[in-house]
Amino acid sequence: TKWAQMGLLQPTMAVFNELRYEKPTAIQAQAVPIVESGMDMIGIAKTGSGKTLAFGIPMVRHILDQRALKSSDGPIVLILAPTRELSLQIVNELKPFLKASNLKIGCAYGGPPISEHIAMIKRGGLHVLCATPGRLIDLMQSNSGRVLSFRRITYVVLDEADRMFDMGFEPQVLKVLDNIRPDRQAILFSATMPKNMAAVVRKHFHHPVEVLI
Ligand code: AMP
Repeated sequence: TKWAQMGLLQPTMAVFNELRYEKPTAIQAQAVPIVESGMDMIGIAKTGSGKTLAFGIPMVRHILDQRALKSSDGPIVLILAPTRELSLQIVNELKPFLKASNLKIGCAYGGPPISEHIAMIKRGGLHVLCATPGRLIDLMQSNSGRVLSFRRITYVVLDEADRMFDMGFEPQVLKVLDNIRPDRQAILFSATMPKNMAAVVRKHFHHPVEVLI
């Protein structure tokens, strides 16, 4: 598959040209059309497969489609990742694509004082929030819960979901999913599909398409 066959937005194509990413990876070629059609998706893929842009490319189109419709504040996309390192990596990889369309991403993970993340959210204007589960729950439960609105979230990504479950974040992930409107699109990437994760997917995803790489 070539980029030209995928009908991508011009700003997205411009970034690929600049980065000299010549063609989509296997997971990108399979996942992008599925996700852009609005379906939920489960991708069984490892780091290095290009999975970040497999959800990142359709994410930009989703935000541009939604932004005009809903004027209330709060992120449109929520990405959950198991660790600070992965969340920062995701943000770095998505940033050029978001910047090309004047969209903003913020990152919240455990470690720094929560006041930093509260201030970031209060500044507003974030289209995407990438967070680790523990810190996100802290943000929901602190006074900032009133600041961090989930109303606009219509695209949620669970990245390296098996690692989040291994680390014991299942209750936090469930709580987050329960607080996002039911008409959202949900995407999950994982290297494996343990039983407890499959059960969560059955309950919280809407007829997900499975993509195996
Ligand atoms: P990921 O699996 O998302 O962590 O991506 C692994 C690495 O591949 C990252 O450094 C990406 O920037 C890079 N990458 C993603 N998509 C492509 C592509 N289509 N062509 C070349 N490199 C890519």
